Amino acid sequence: MAQLELDGLVKTFSDGSDEVVAVDTVNMSLNDGEFLVLVGPSGCGKSTTLRMVAGLETATEGDILIGDESVIGKEPRERDIAMVFQNYALYPHMTAKENMSFGLKMTTDLDTEAIEQRVAETAEMMGIKDLLDDPPKELSGGQQQRVALGRAIVRDPAVFLMDEPLSNLDAKLRTKMRTELKRLQNELDVTTIYVTHDQTEAMTMGDRIAILDDGVLQQVGTPLECYHRPANRFVAGFIGSPS
Ligand code: ADP
Ligand code: MG
Repeated sequence: MAQLELDGLVKTFSDGSDEVVAVDTVNMSLNDGEFLVLVGPSGCGKSTTLRMVAGLETATEGDILIGDESVIGKEPRERDIAMVFQNYALYPHMTAKENMSFGLKMTTDLDTEAIEQRVAETAEMMGIKDLLDDPPKELSGGQQQRVALGRAIVRDPAVFLMDEPLSNLDAKLRTKMRTELKRLQNELDVTTIYVTHDQTEAMTMGDRIAILDDGVLQQVGTPLECYHRPANRFVAGFIGSPS
């Protein structure tokens, strides 16, 4: 059964008299524990799609189901979702540990001891246990992104959303983090939409990839299917299929 389903999702922004259709009738269905990469050029509607799933943007039309329950109309914190952003978005005045515990305190009724334990286990998993008392400004970009990932994972969400989480890192670290993220996702087995504009990232990380252009989904399939049997010219060009 699908764990996450986007059903005819539309987002239009009105800009005075102009209307921009940022996301145009997107349908997709993720299996439990699946890692789906949503990929496409800049401005094609990836972030808007993710933000609607997270509840940070209201869908103009369509439905979003987690398990078999619609989350339309629910506040972000009522959705069983964690999101990681490109710019980490850590709370600057809190330590790494406080950043990781804050959401747990707000959204669960775990006691302090249980929270400490979960944060310690997650910090171990993310390789940041020596950084827990540091504020974000004392951490490198890579370390900050580990804390941001830890903060998301510690909540044990049903759905994990990542919006270009590695694009602020240098190339070497990015490659390393790709492997780590994949390992982590296999371990946690959490249903994930991972957004990137980078074809290589999509091809190497996705169980399946969903290719978006101008708000319209062009193809959803395994990296190999999309590579060998691209649905159209755009897909072939975008992922560099042999012609
Ligand atoms: P991507 O993440 O793929 O780069 P976005 O989802 O950010 O693309 O944007 C898709 C389209 O929607 C773009 O044309 C963008 O300019 C437009 N858009 C995004 N957010 C807003 C907004 N708040 N108001 C108006 N237009 C927006
Ligand atoms: Mg974006």
